[in-house]
Amino acid sequence: MSDPRYSVVGSGYSLDSKQRELIELVESLGPRLAERAERYDREASFPHENYADLRAAGLLGLCVPEKFGGRGADLRTYSIVSATLGKYCGATALTYNMHACSMLWPGALSDDLDMTPAQRAEHDRHRAIHYQRVIRDGAIYAQPFSEGSAAAAGRAPFGTTATRVGGGWSINGKKIFASLSGAAHYYGLLCTEAKPELSMRDTLYMAVPGNAPGLSIVGDWDPLGMRGTVSRTLLFKDVFVPDEAQMMPRGIYFQAASRWPHMFTTLSPTYMGIAIAAYEFTVRYLRGEVEGMPPVKRRMYPTKQVAVAEMWVKLEQTRSLFLRMLEDARVDPPKDARLRAYAAQFTIMENANDICGLAIRTCGGQSMLKSLPLERLYRDSRCGSLMLPWTAELCLDRIGREALYEPGESDD
Ligand SMILES: Cc1cc2nc3c(=O)[nH]c(=O)nc-3n(C[C@H](O)[C@H](O)[C@H](O)COP(=O)(O)OP(=O)(O)OC[C@H]3O[C@@H](n4cnc5c(N)ncnc54)[C@H](O)[C@@H]3O)c2cc1C
Repeated sequence: MSDPRYSVVGSGYSLDSKQRELIELVESLGPRLAERAERYDREASFPHENYADLRAAGLLGLCVPEKFGGRGADLRTYSIVSATLGKYCGATALTYNMHACSMLWPGALSDDLDMTPAQRAEHDRHRAIHYQRVIRDGAIYAQPFSEGSAAAAGRAPFGTTATRVGGGWSINGKKIFASLSGAAHYYGLLCTEAKPELSMRDTLYMAVPGNAPGLSIVGDWDPLGMRGTVSRTLLFKDVFVPDEAQMMPRGIYFQAASRWPHMFTTLSPTYMGIAIAAYEFTVRYLRGEVEGMPPVKRRMYPTKQVAVAEMWVKLEQTRSLFLRMLEDARVDPPKDARLRAYAAQFTIMENANDICGLAIRTCGGQSMLKSLPLERLYRDSRCGSLMLPWTAELCLDRIGREALYEPGESDD
């Protein structure tokens, strides 16, 4: 284990042997990932070399159930691993979220959901195909859901449609902000079964091969932060996929979204990791211990000490809620756990950016030079609270509404 002050869970937190081993593994890869992060950010290029390392370490199969040859990580274990990655390279951690959750949702999460015996058998057949691609072939999966409409916020059906055709489905539509575009072997997209009236209940979760005829990647990618995610636009024109493209049986994604709310917290570990990295950098910088910098100490100034104290308080508040949220994660959580999940997501995303801002203010002008990681952490951290479906605004929106109304209640 690396220095426990900068570990994701802090010292004394109870971990099982698998979790300890996985954290050690990611910590051992971390310095190499961090070394490359500057280049991916400057070029806005995908972290291919980092993925080669993840593949070689067997981490592409992290959330693949053990019976399908993976490491069988649950949401809690995934989140701790993901946050550890986030300390070293935000873009790698964020894109890894898309891949790992493509394995987790059809895996451990789906096992908790109600399915008929026929659906369960079909799901086992289909997911075996997806898992084999990852375990045997090293495939990478993306999760392009966003469309620039109310759909990604969970408020309307997806406009991308799947029409039943002989032996499979024909997909038409458009996805924006598709992280891993051009790098993923499969795009696990959410779309709506084409019927006279589109319904969220008919959401389908389908994996489209990156080389499928009719799929094109368009637009440029030159954003403020998370530049290595390469989140461009995907167009689908009569793209045919066979039945086994389904990552979950018909109707099951809708059930998951209603009954397993913590499935939407999985972007936040990346930002928990970024917050820890910004704090660690600040301590090292003020102690004159940053590699490649003259050993100038700045820790003796009371204002610096107060700022570091403020960062630590914010970090501990954030980490506590993060770990509590992970304890809560389960199917059909009670209402207070659901509200706490929104609060945790809000806090992690907002505080990560606050902590990075404080870090720059405290370390000073030299710390925002591109030769040091802090300005990248700052820009990357800005992206967290913008990500649907649980943006900072929507978390507040949901807490306010769900705190004041019980399901089905209205003022009429
Ligand atoms: C670095 C990065 C990587 C990303 N990767 C992916 C990816 O891999 N897959 C993917 O699917 N998406 C991805 N996204 C997209 C992301 O999840 C959001 O969909 C996107 O940021 C929304 O941008 P927008 O301007 O279209 O938001 P809009 O839909 O215009 O929303 C703007 C804001 O309005 C609020 N809002 C939106 N809808 C509602 C509503 N119905 N009611 C009330 N308030 C609402 C929200 O707070 C939201 O932040 C990524 C985004 C970023 C920044």
